[in-house]
Amino acid sequence: MPILSLPIFPSLDSAIASIFGNNNRILHTSPVAGGDINEACRLELTDGTRVFMKANRKDNLSFFTAEAAGLEAVSRTGVIGTPELLCYGTDEDRGGFSFLLMEWIQGERRISNYWETFAHQLAAMHRAPTQNFVSGGTYGFDQNNYIGARPQTNTANDSWVAFFRDCRLEPQFRSAEHYWGNGDLKRIGWLLDHLGDFLVEPENPSLLHGDLWSGNVIEGNDGRAWLIDPAVYVGHAEADIAMTELFGGFPQGFYSAYRETGLLQPDYEGRRDLYNLYQLLNHLNLFGRSYLSSVRRILDKYVK
Ligand code: ADP
Repeated sequence: MPILSLPIFPSLDSAIASIFGNNNRILHTSPVAGGDINEACRLELTDGTRVFMKANRKDNLSFFTAEAAGLEAVSRTGVIGTPELLCYGTDEDRGGFSFLLMEWIQGERRISNYWETFAHQLAAMHRAPTQNFVSGGTYGFDQNNYIGARPQTNTANDSWVAFFRDCRLEPQFRSAEHYWGNGDLKRIGWLLDHLGDFLVEPENPSLLHGDLWSGNVIEGNDGRAWLIDPAVYVGHAEADIAMTELFGGFPQGFYSAYRETGLLQPDYEGRRDLYNLYQLLNHLNLFGRSYLSSVRRILDKYVK
């Protein structure tokens, strides 16, 4: 499902002129806080239009092609809000950077049942057909992407358990190899060989956001929760819900509404930490040793 519709520009100025008209220029640029990978800012144009821009080093354009493909996939399900994509490009004029432009989200007043509505819309996304997102297998995604700033491989597989082992846990354990002694390596090998004792194949595959923590759920233009900054792939819906619980969790109303949809299989709680082991290993590989004890706690839980 490579996205073909999004234009690519050789400079920020040419992108603005082409999308918003030759009379439009950037009047102000203000930084937006909150992201941890890219520079984010709000551009204000001469006609008053606001645009959201993410920028990174010139050689990191692939962050943005991957993000755009993810947002496009979420948007194609047609059941939940995402910002409208405008274009991406690299800019040589101002020192060399890559950028992604999208609609500026101006969160309106939240609807009254914000979290319950979000749970239902997320469940609808999890129930949307997935065949167009991955070919050659049921799980994965038609292009590789990133989880934070680290590459995420999405090679298609007909087994969710095998996909989660080969494309999620195994590469992260390998990148963290300097942390493991011989005893650890044996236990990690055992866990990977016995993953099917703990994880289950889903009843139906789901398009996942893939990095669903509270910073990636934003109040959208319709007062509902919109999704930003995804690391999409087709997998088990439980992995998205597990991620929401990793760093503080969402309000209870979200969980009771999501539970009613029946997408969590029995004993989800027994699998939750294994899904989050992937995210914690990624944090260990990105941010270092402070995540090691959480990783070890999960290993201890599943490997006696
Ligand atoms: P990063 O890729 O660095 O993690 P994010 O996608 O999380 O960056 O975005 C950084 C900040 O910008 C967040 O605080 C987020 O709420 C805000 N943001 C993201 N997309 C938009 C948008 N389209 N309009 C307005 N603000 C946005």
